[in-house]
Amino acid sequence: MRNELYIDGQWVKPVKGGTCDVINPATEELIQTISAATAEDVDIAVKAARRAFDRDGWPKLTGAQRAKYLRAIADGIRARQSEIAKLEVLDNGKPFPEADWDIADAAGCFDFYAGLAEELDKNAEEVIALADDRFTSKAVKEPIGVAGAIIPWNYPLLMAAWKVAPALAAGCTVVLKPAEQTSLTALELAAVADEIGLPAGVLNIVTGAGLVAGQAIVDHKGVDKLAFTGSGPVGSKIMAAAARDIKRVSLELGGKSPFVVFDDVDIEQAVEWIMFGIFWNQGQVCSATSRVLVHEAIYEALLARLIEETEKITIGNGMDDGVLLGPLVSKRQHEQVVAAIEGASKAGAIVACGGTRPEGFDKGYYLRPTILTDVPLDSDAWVEEIFGPVVCVKPFKTEEEAIDLANDSRFGLAAAVMSKDDIRAERVAAAFRAGIVWINCSQPTFTEAPWGGYKESGIGRELGRWGLENYLETKQITKYVTDKPWGWYIK
Ligand code: ADP
Repeated sequence: MRNELYIDGQWVKPVKGGTCDVINPATEELIQTISAATAEDVDIAVKAARRAFDRDGWPKLTGAQRAKYLRAIADGIRARQSEIAKLEVLDNGKPFPEADWDIADAAGCFDFYAGLAEELDKNAEEVIALADDRFTSKAVKEPIGVAGAIIPWNYPLLMAAWKVAPALAAGCTVVLKPAEQTSLTALELAAVADEIGLPAGVLNIVTGAGLVAGQAIVDHKGVDKLAFTGSGPVGSKIMAAAARDIKRVSLELGGKSPFVVFDDVDIEQAVEWIMFGIFWNQGQVCSATSRVLVHEAIYEALLARLIEETEKITIGNGMDDGVLLGPLVSKRQHEQVVAAIEGASKAGAIVACGGTRPEGFDKGYYLRPTILTDVPLDSDAWVEEIFGPVVCVKPFKTEEEAIDLANDSRFGLAAAVMSKDDIRAERVAAAFRAGIVWINCSQPTFTEAPWGGYKESGIGRELGRWGLENYLETKQITKYVTDKPWGWYIK
């Protein structure tokens, strides 16, 4: 497995030679070490990306030419999909079928942005109608420049794709820092880029600690745009740092997303979507619907079925057949989620199921899927993101109360509603203060549709054409088209 940095089309050791340990969360064993980049390595990477952008001509290629590279990357990922998915399981812990899905999605993301790169050849310029016919004007979309992308550990390759694909499609060059816990598949992306002959410096991948390599990207004067997915506190620091030199910034941060379930639903389907909304990827999903609000008329019946099905979830090593819940990503994450459950109990919540390490799993960062009820509205368990397989379930009486409870959060990433009454479902969807709203489902994510949050859940949108716009500037070009002198000073 690879353990060097990929800078300027070369595999290189970090200048200071540091390393980080990579741990398998299912066994707690060391998989390998990776390079820990420092500010010196980031500087070399940013300079390579600058040269690729400013002089080597990546932004000057046509969209169709860049699309060829993007499609080749997509094909390269697919050619070794299973191998990359296994690496993702080893590194992150998620069940193999989920990893396999992620890797296919990552390839699909490169294909999708290849299509948008081609369209840019036709739609990068827009003629502006002016009231004054002595001038013509057009708005031209141009790449921002060098993008610094910093990503988390929950969807390692997919998060890389969400940033690298639109950035390259737009004509930006990239310095990407994967999360230190899960960098292996990003290094495979570098390997694919290398194999398909992506020009040197267009994509640089530096592994290492957030506070060192990540911070160095954020602070570097040569970076024009920062794209970050991760925790709120780090996002806030990045936005503050970006303000120093007015870097463009897009942030996708945490959430505490509600799922409102009315009393006319099919309880079996509701239970299925509630489980998909919180237990997929061990609940380590920024958009996880972690606050479930259930109409009081079906609350007891639904809760009983939810507990029954949750207790049946097969826990285990993500590589084993039939496993639906793997370990959490790291010791630290496991400790934090366990502490959040203990805090909930202390605050008066009832642990209706789960809350402990599953029996027979002495090693690995395993946790039983957990359902909390009677969670006080002012407790951390109700208010703060837990980022684990922990759901709070609460009854409500009226639609108005459900909407108020749903929106009573400083986050606004996602929200879901389930009802057979389509008019009501649409009405509640409209009332949610969230960037992503699901009706009669929770979590399905499409490369074509905008993704991002209201309030403290972030700024900007990824995916779809919005994802491309994240990496584009708009230039106005205005031309004086008459022979008549302007005649202001010289009469
Ligand atoms: P988590 O707490 O879930 O690990 P973080 O927000 O800390 O989430 O991490 C997301 C990404 O941000 C990772 O790649 C991490 O290395 C990086 N990171 C953490 N701190 C900083 C920082 N101060 N500046 C830049 N990147 C950082």
